[in-house]
Amino acid sequence: MESQSCFWCAKHLPLGSLKYVVHIRVFADFDGVLSIPEEDIDGEFDRILQEIESRTPDELEREVYEEIGLLLCKECRDRFVCDVKGAGEVGGNGLTFH
Ligand SMILES: [Zn+2]
Repeated sequence: MESQSCFWCAKHLPLGSLKYVVHIRVFADFDGVLSIPEEDIDGEFDRILQEIESRTPDELEREVYEEIGLLLCKECRDRFVCDVKGAGEVGGNGLTFH
């Protein structure tokens, strides 16, 4: 089995040690509004198609949905949770916790 280390501080995490997995799902949010100028729908549609054709399927998929897994030590886990929860409470920026 390969050795493991903390993603942030690089501390070695031997087998049997306390460690945490942060599983992050990043996906595009859609609020139901399309910002396409009504007077140039055909032009905008062509621009969108050109943009899509210039990218690989993997790039497009990652832009819509991506999962990230991080392994953290106890200290970095505590800091991460504190920072994320603090950002939601202080900023009121729409963070939700499930
Ligand atoms: Zn760490």
